[in-house]
Amino acid sequence: MTLRVTFLGTGGAVPTTERNTSAVAVNREGDQFLFDAGEGTQRQMMRFGTGFAVSDVFLTHLHGDHVLGLPGLLQTWGFNDRTEPLTVHVPQGTKREVHDLLHAADTDPDFRVTVNEVSPGAVARDGEGYEVRAVATAHRTTAVGYALVEDERKGRFDRDRAEDLGVPVGPKFSKLHDGEAVELDDGSVVTPEEVVGPPRPGRRLVYTGDTRPADSVVAAAEGADLLIHDATFADDHLDRARDTGHATAREAAEVAADAGAVRLALTHLSSRYAGDASRLRREAESVAAFDGEVLLPGDGDEVDVPFPR
Ligand SMILES: [Zn+2]
Ligand SMILES: [Zn+2]
Repeated sequence: MTLRVTFLGTGGAVPTTERNTSAVAVNREGDQFLFDAGEGTQRQMMRFGTGFAVSDVFLTHLHGDHVLGLPGLLQTWGFNDRTEPLTVHVPQGTKREVHDLLHAADTDPDFRVTVNEVSPGAVARDGEGYEVRAVATAHRTTAVGYALVEDERKGRFDRDRAEDLGVPVGPKFSKLHDGEAVELDDGSVVTPEEVVGPPRPGRRLVYTGDTRPADSVVAAAEGADLLIHDATFADDHLDRARDTGHATAREAAEVAADAGAVRLALTHLSSRYAGDASRLRREAESVAAFDGEVLLPGDGDEVDVPFPR
């Protein structure tokens, strides 16, 4: 079952020739989302072939580098005669501003656009087999991150054990796997506990948007298969990170370590690292407590999120 992340914009604040402003496309088994939509996001979607059948846009906060792509995208969807409704999730208290943004350039589309305010902890989207929840973050303005959390999966079915117990290959296998006991021809009963392992966790993907390190992110990213975290600065600008409500790459790795995340993707990189951002990766990797993998994605990079082992 696909869970694919495409980084559309990995730069912070201002675009550079290499990195556009923030946007992440997520495709979960055909359900398509955008997390943030900086200026030029629609062109990045075309370049990197993510498809345009987006049902939900999750905005972390109302800074321009995260939202200015949305009016243009709405206009294009309008030109293309989109009819499917769109839901735009926004932090609590920002609906008015988002409404103004979407209507500022006479881009009023014919399809239905719902602006859904979410508070930290609330479920923004209740999907088939997963939810997207809002997560408290710590930025200079009202902001949230988002966690896509899949439901638990059924336990592993022990086929050999079932056959040893005399269960005939066929529908009784799926009954057992679905949690039902079955009766055999000789009158004996086999229960699911005998042949089905414990439920297995689904996948967890967290996108912080702009933030200082936060305990709420650590909690939301517990065991996350992929944590996409603000890493605007290297160690040389820690003061600036504190002043502007951002994180350093090292701080992002400390959050990932505390959360026990499997992979960490550094994003929202300051344009001062435009030439060479490798020190951000090095500094994140130097956090000994983090034993996961550090990714430094560029625009257009795709990451497939596998099920946890
Ligand atoms: Zn930003
Ligand atoms: Zn911001």
